[in-house]
Parts: sequence; structure tokens; C-alpha cells
Amino acid sequence: MRMEINWDHLSVEDLSLSKEIIAKIHKIMLKIPNPIAIMHVCGTHEYTIAKNGIRSLLPKNLRVISGPGCPVCVCPATDIDIAVELAKREDVILTTFGDMMRVPSTTYSLLELKARGAQIEVVYSPHDAIELAKNNPDKEVVFFAIGFETTAPLIAFELTMNPPSNFSIICAYKLVPPAMDVLLKIPHLEINGFILPGHVCAIIGAKPFEEYPKRYKSPMVVSGFEVNDMLISIYQIILQLYNKTATVGNSYTRVVQYEGNLQAQSYLEKAFEVTDSFWRGIGEIPNSGYQLREKYHKYDAVKKFDVHVDSDPKMPLGCSCSDVLIGKITPDKCALFGKTCTPQHPIGPCMVSHEGACKVNYMFRDI
Ligand code: SF4
Repeated sequence: MRMEINWDHLSVEDLSLSKEIIAKIHKIMLKIPNPIAIMHVCGTHEYTIAKNGIRSLLPKNLRVISGPGCPVCVCPATDIDIAVELAKREDVILTTFGDMMRVPSTTYSLLELKARGAQIEVVYSPHDAIELAKNNPDKEVVFFAIGFETTAPLIAFELTMNPPSNFSIICAYKLVPPAMDVLLKIPHLEINGFILPGHVCAIIGAKPFEEYPKRYKSPMVVSGFEVNDMLISIYQIILQLYNKTATVGNSYTRVVQYEGNLQAQSYLEKAFEVTDSFWRGIGEIPNSGYQLREKYHKYDAVKKFDVHVDSDPKMPLGCSCSDVLIGKITPDKCALFGKTCTPQHPIGPCMVSHEGACKVNYMFRDI
């Protein structure tokens, strides 16, 4: 079977194209005997899917499931507890992205701590935090640096620009490709293919994912974030399954190059080295995080302030985020979903951010 759609001239808002791709998906799924499960690992993909009711347009034997694509959801309570300990200090202004403020830790969320008088500021970029440090030389400004490969180059660049000595970071970045390896090894999940996150691939390219389709016979396609991006990526994966091939495809060629953004990668290489990292709800994943290179240790807040916390890495009692994050259950299967756990009163991290599967599915639960 051949693809007749020219991806390079894709109109992301073309409704007739959406209908055409959906028809193709239904047609090809009639020829595939077994049910198919495709996973994405991106909160923005889940947002597009849920908001536009994409699941309701797909054949019954095709499931698109949400994986660990929300950075604040996989940030371990230990890191949040470190941020809490630092924010309790009178000489520290803690800065972070807005999504992090309401994520439950072992004790307080950062928002609760701010309400108790701690100096915690929401920033839109690490540069804002550095400006805050320059404007407050009598304070220590700590940036709680969370995210995937998408946001890490921003801080990597800033660190190479010699920021002030009263600036430091809690380095909690996560790397996506090693997480795929873990997900593909979970036997009962039986994921047949992956939609790859376009923003992560804009930085690291498609190249780091090449080993997985070969090893696990699981096709992967880099996807953008519009409805037609998602539909085309789903179709490309099914087409590979039908043709019994498994490669890394790219339906987001208007942004993502195979090699990625080499300049951003060079800054990442300068500032960070790869290390094992703990993902909340999943556990320790080898080579799945960044730590600062020795040259930049003076900007490591944990070393600078000698912070120690003794946290329980488990999810809050009754919360099923661990199963939601690996796609074992959908958010509505958690007993607390929409009852005691809502966006106004989140119990687990997946109900906090617009990228969290529980919050997204709560927002669009009637679609
Ligand atoms: S609904 Fe709430 S408690 Fe349940 S899995 Fe989601 S975030 Fe956790």
C-alpha cells in the first residue's frame, strides 16, 4: 500500500484532508487482524487528541494511549522537596515555571509555601531568573529547572554566558529516548508503535530514536501538534505495521531535521553530562537525565546549599498516576478522577499541568 499524501505540503487546518486521512486509517485497519496500540509521550499531543475528540474518530481496534509526556508529572517528589527546602530559606528567591507551583510534594506544594510567605516567583524563561539575580544581588536566586530536551538548551546557553554568582539551578531535566526503552520492555503494555514528540525532536532530531524500531520492531513517527499532524502520524505508523516495517518516520518535516538542532545540542554538550535519573511513577531510568558538568558545579543549588531531603518517592495515597504515566490505565479509571481529584484540588501530579493526562482528560471529558 502506498501513501498518496504529500506531507511536505500539509495544510494542518484542512478539514477535507482530516476526513481523507481518517478514511484511510479505517480502510487499512480492516486489513490488520489484531488490535493496535499506539503511544505518544507528549502532553501537547494528548491535549490535541482530547480537545479534538480524535479517539472517537478512530476504529475501535485502534487505541492511542498517553505515556509519560508531562515534565512536572515525572518530576520526583524528592526534587520538589529540595525546592521546598531552598524556598524556606530567607536568603533565597526560588523561581520556576508556573506548572510546577501546584504539584504535590511530600509536604507542601510551592504554591502553598508561597502563601506562607516564601519568596517564590514564576518565570517564563531561565533568562528571567538571571535578571532577577542581577536585580537582587543581596539574594540567592535558584531556578528549578525541569523539562525535557526541549527546554534544557535555554539554561545550557545561559550557563555558558557566565551568569551572576548568586544564581544557581536545581537540575531536574529528563531525556525522552531512554524512557522509550523502558516502556517497550513492559510486556503487558504491548505497544505497537510510538508517536514521537515534535518539540523534543526539533532539538535532538530523529536520530537518537533509530535503535528502538530495529530492536523492538515498533515503528515511530515524529509528529507536530495540529490535528492533521496527529492523524498523519497515526496513519504512517499503521501503514508501517501493515507493511511489516519498523523505522523512524517524520511527519513534521517543516520543523524537525533528522540530525536536530546542532547548535542547541552543542550547548547541551557544553553544560551537561548524561546521568541516571528517577522518574516519578516509573522509577530509575539509566541515562535519562542531565547533571551539570564539573565546570558549572558552582551553579548547582544542591551542592551550593548542601541540601539533603529524605523523601518518599511514591505517589500520594490512592493516586494511580504510576499506571496513567505508563499508559496502563486511562485517567478516568483512577477511582479519584473527577471526585476527590480535580484541577482545583489535584491529588496526583497528572491533574496539575495542561500537559498532565488527568487534567487534559478532565477538561475535555465531555467531548
Ligand atoms: S485522577 Fe488524580 S489521583 Fe488519579 S491518577 Fe490522576 S492525578 Fe492521580
